[in-house]
Amino acid sequence: MRLRLSFLLLVFFAATTLLKAQRVEAVSDTTFVNLKDYSGDFVYDMKYATTDNFLKAKVYDCVECFLRLKTVKALVKANKEFIRKGFRIQLFDCYRPLDIQKRMWQIVSNPEYVADPAKGSIHNRGGAVDITLVDSKGMALDMGTSFDFFGPEAGHNYQNLSNKVKQNRVFLKQIMQENGFVSFDSEWWHYNLQNASKDKVSNTKWKCE
Ligand SMILES: [Zn+2]
Repeated sequence: MRLRLSFLLLVFFAATTLLKAQRVEAVSDTTFVNLKDYSGDFVYDMKYATTDNFLKAKVYDCVECFLRLKTVKALVKANKEFIRKGFRIQLFDCYRPLDIQKRMWQIVSNPEYVADPAKGSIHNRGGAVDITLVDSKGMALDMGTSFDFFGPEAGHNYQNLSNKVKQNRVFLKQIMQENGFVSFDSEWWHYNLQNASKDKVSNTKWKCE
């Protein structure tokens, strides 16, 4: 009797382990996932879920940061590094459905600032993030311009900035690059995961709870 019970227990554990393994396999590196399921260490300031953006419209129904799993993994690693140094990442935008990209393009038809929806942005592919850094008190670092400032001052090569601003931008850029991201010349806040342009554009909208 005792033997039979141990055997049944063994079968039970084997079956649950197998089921768990299958569930893990169902999520690949390119699956869209919600960042908050992987880390609670980010500050959210999702501008398109408010009217405080250049569209002057709330185009996201709720504050969520969806990205492909590989982007989430790299972003969490970068954030851990910032946290070790007394800072953390504040998010402005993550995955962006293609329909929203079209609305942005209607307002700003300039590829230096908004990607042409005909090609699609890396945001539409779940491989880009718009971010800044906050210190241990939650204060955003001075990056010289606000987010979505469409002018040369927002560019990485713009020189007429204080040393502090330049240092802050370089600090953000270095750690993001060390963790697999590529900067974008005309916007200090925008980072693409390497090779993310190979992933497909999506128009899926996330569910709000
Ligand atoms: Zn961006």
